Amino acid sequence: MISDALLRRFDLNGPRYTSYPTADRFSSLVGPADYASALSAVKSPASLYIHIPFCRSLCYYCACNKIVTKSNSAANDYLSHLEREIELIAKNAPSLELVQIAFGGGTPNFFSIAQFESLFRALTKHAHLDPNREQSIEIDPRYLSDGYMESLRALGFNRVSFGVQDFDEGVQKLIHRSQSFEQTRAAVAAAREASFSSVSFDLVYGLPLQSRDSFAATLERTLSLEPDRVALFNYAHIPERFKAQRRIPSESLPSIEERVSLFLYAAERLVDAGYVAIGLDHFARPRDPLAQAAADASLRRNFQGYSTHAKTQLIGIGVSAISQLNELFAQNSADLDVYQTRIGRGELATHRGIALTFDDRVRASVIEKLMCHGALHWSEIAAEFSIDAKSYFARELTSLQRLEQDGVVSLTPDTARVTDNGRLLLRAVAMVFDAYRDQPRPTQATSAEPEATPIRFSRIA
Ligand code: SF4
Repeated sequence: MISDALLRRFDLNGPRYTSYPTADRFSSLVGPADYASALSAVKSPASLYIHIPFCRSLCYYCACNKIVTKSNSAANDYLSHLEREIELIAKNAPSLELVQIAFGGGTPNFFSIAQFESLFRALTKHAHLDPNREQSIEIDPRYLSDGYMESLRALGFNRVSFGVQDFDEGVQKLIHRSQSFEQTRAAVAAAREASFSSVSFDLVYGLPLQSRDSFAATLERTLSLEPDRVALFNYAHIPERFKAQRRIPSESLPSIEERVSLFLYAAERLVDAGYVAIGLDHFARPRDPLAQAAADASLRRNFQGYSTHAKTQLIGIGVSAISQLNELFAQNSADLDVYQTRIGRGELATHRGIALTFDDRVRASVIEKLMCHGALHWSEIAAEFSIDAKSYFARELTSLQRLEQDGVVSLTPDTARVTDNGRLLLRAVAMVFDAYRDQPRPTQATSAEPEATPIRFSRIA
């Protein structure tokens, strides 16, 4: 068991490494011309991420890029800009083949079915949609109308992720997200009835008032609905960065020991119930493609988290969306007005990004291996990049040796492996390889632009 002292030592805010370099390293040195040139080089099948930023009410814990509104006209306006962006992308990448499409937010089900139909007309006009594609959507069960899931299924959606967080009413009150068990149960039933192949739940631990008993009850209710996947995210309370979090009284938050105990209990209960633990915070039924990808070491990590498709190029559309094309990350403006003005003028909305250096690519590979498989083989890194990996990472190896003394990793001449107990500190191990972690963040050229937020911070434990 990892000691409390060690956990406390690592109780710091850190990235979830859905990319390396992390999004806070992007700068305005990358612009629309770089993105256009990267798009024109896209040859292989691609994944598409579409960001829908609108939410009907504000959850106080939220660290996402969202716009709280009840106005449907905002969505109509946004939809026309998404369609225009699809056209602009197709101009640069004319033979685009999409094997995966994911909608995230915000709240993607802010869009009506008619709005989705319009969007898919634009997609089919400008790209080839693989009939066997994986098509996923994040859904807020509080705003789900009758027949909605069935209509989504008819549009090709086959995976759904429901935001749940916690079923406890006291916790829900403090996070300003009232969502009855019945609403979630009905949403799952609608997805099953419409033959969605995968239903996923997002739970969050570390929320105000959570106790082991209350979270155990949430887990039992979760298990009774038999999701195929469960993501167990850690709440990062950073009120100085995320304004809404200031409404959560810090004295209502569990201590680090309590958070660790919540995670360990939940992980054990999910594994007992037959789920396979994957990477940092995911659990899946053994037959789920994510569990199979973890078993055969093909699991990848990208901006959407763990993925079986991350080897493909990723094109992000919408406000603040990030694209990952070969050796370039490019992010759209996170300001809705700026995004829409630029797309409206017929320009790509790239605001910032980063072109990967050789060192970035080596470290990205090491960090991805750790985050996906909890282990790395020096010989694999050496072969992949034609380097003497142990010499290249001599300084990092010394840090790993210290972590070995703490029981976080175990080392052999060719491997570094995160121990079962060390899994809680997976990000701390990955941070050893982050060359940017002690460097100041780049300043943005356009001061009017709000900082984009896709870097998802989370406490280490
Ligand atoms: S948690 Fe989800 S639904 Fe709540 S405000 Fe954030 S993006 Fe919107």
